[in-house]
Amino acid sequence: MNDLILIINAGSSSIKFSLFAQTSADPELLYKGQVEGIYVDPQFSAKNAAGDKLADEKLPADSPRSHDYALRYLLDWVNGHTDGRKLAVIGHRVVHGGFNFTQPVRIDAQVLAELDKTVSLAPLHAPANIGPMKALASLLPDVPQVACFDTAFHRTQPEINQLYALPVELAEREGIRRWGFHGLSYEYIASVLPQIDQRAANGRTVVCHLGNGASMAALDQGKCVLTTMGFTALEGLPMGTRTGSLDPAIVLHLMTHLKMTTAEIETLLYKESGLLGLSGVSSDMRELHASKEPRARMAVEYFANRIVQQVGSLAASIQGLDALVFTAGIGENDDELRALVCNALRWLGVDIDESVNAKRSGEPRRISRADSKVAVYVVPTNEELMIARHALRCIAA
Ligand code: ADP
Repeated sequence: MNDLILIINAGSSSIKFSLFAQTSADPELLYKGQVEGIYVDPQFSAKNAAGDKLADEKLPADSPRSHDYALRYLLDWVNGHTDGRKLAVIGHRVVHGGFNFTQPVRIDAQVLAELDKTVSLAPLHAPANIGPMKALASLLPDVPQVACFDTAFHRTQPEINQLYALPVELAEREGIRRWGFHGLSYEYIASVLPQIDQRAANGRTVVCHLGNGASMAALDQGKCVLTTMGFTALEGLPMGTRTGSLDPAIVLHLMTHLKMTTAEIETLLYKESGLLGLSGVSSDMRELHASKEPRARMAVEYFANRIVQQVGSLAASIQGLDALVFTAGIGENDDELRALVCNALRWLGVDIDESVNAKRSGEPRRISRADSKVAVYVVPTNEELMIARHALRCIAA
C-alpha cells in the first residue's frame, strides 16, 4: 500500500524526519528521528510515536560527512520500518519561499530552478533544504515530493507590514522585505483553533511561538496580519542565542569602531546573544530557571518583557485582542514565563488561573479564567503534521 508520508526538515548540520501513515482522518505519526552533527560527529536517533527510543547510534567513523550520506542512512532506517508499505509522498520543510512560493508546491525541475534563486535570501538554510530534494529525486524517482514554506503563511500581511522604510526600488530588487518565519507552526495553530475556540478562530488572536527560535504573529480570522520576524529570523524577539531586533547602527559601530568582520558580527548576532548573551549562563530556558545567577533571572524577565511589548504592537495591528496562544518548547512548557507575560497584560483584560497554568498536559488547553476578557490557550504545535497534510493535498490535486 502506498500510504506512507515522509517529512524531511533539513538544516545546515542536521536532517530531521517524521514518518506518517495516511488514515481516513489526519495522518498518524509512526516514527520521528534525525541525524545531527552531520559535519562533526554524526549521530542518528529515532523514536516511535509513544516516544520510545528505537535507535541512538553514531554513524560509522569512516563514513562521509555529508548531507547526502546522512540522508541515505536515514532512508535505510526508514526502509527497514515500513512493514511492507510504500511511500506515497515526501514533504519538505523549506525555510524560504521568496516571492514565488506562497503555498505548498509539488517539486519538479522548474520548481527546483526557482528554489535555487532563493539561496541569496536564505544562504544558510536554502542549500540544506534543496539538497535532499535533488538527492531524493534520483534515489526515489517515483515518489512525488512537495515543498512547504515557512514564509508562505505571512504573505497575507498587508503590504505596509511587509515593507522596511528603505528606498523601495533597492528593497524590491534585493528582496528585502518582512518575510516572516515559523509559518507552518502558525498555520497549524490556525487550523486547530476552530475546534478550540470559535471566537479565537474567527477573531483577533496573537500566537507566541516561543522556542530556541521565537516569534509572534497577529492573526485576524486565522490570517496573518503582522509577525515579528522579518527579512531574516533575527528580527523581533530575543531568542536562545539571537539578538532579536537591534538598532541597526549598532552593527555600523561594531564595524567601524571594533573593526569586526562580517563573520564575527554574524556569530555575535546569531550565536552569542539573546538569552545566552544576556545571562552569561545558558540559552536554555530550563537552565535559566534553575540558575541562581541574577543575570539568568534578568534574561528571563527581559524575554517576558519583550513578548509583552510585542503583544501590544500586534494587538494594535488587529485592533484588539480576543485570544492569546502560547506554543513551542517554552510556550508549551514554561508556566513561569507564561505567568510573567500574562500578569503584565492584565490591563488588556488577560486574567489567567495560576493553578490551571501550572498543570502539565500535552493537549491544547485554556489557562485563562472563564471571565477573562482575553482567552489564553496553550496549544502544542505540530509543523510536521501540517506538512504531511499539505503533501497529501498537493498530490491529490
Ligand atoms: P526549537 O525547535 O526552536 O529548537 P523548541 O521549541 O524545542 O526549540 O524549544 C526549546 C526551548 O524550550 C528551550 O529553551 C528549552 O529550555 C525550552 N523548554 C523545554 N521544556 C521546558 C520546560 N519544561 N520549562 C521551560 N522551558 C522549557
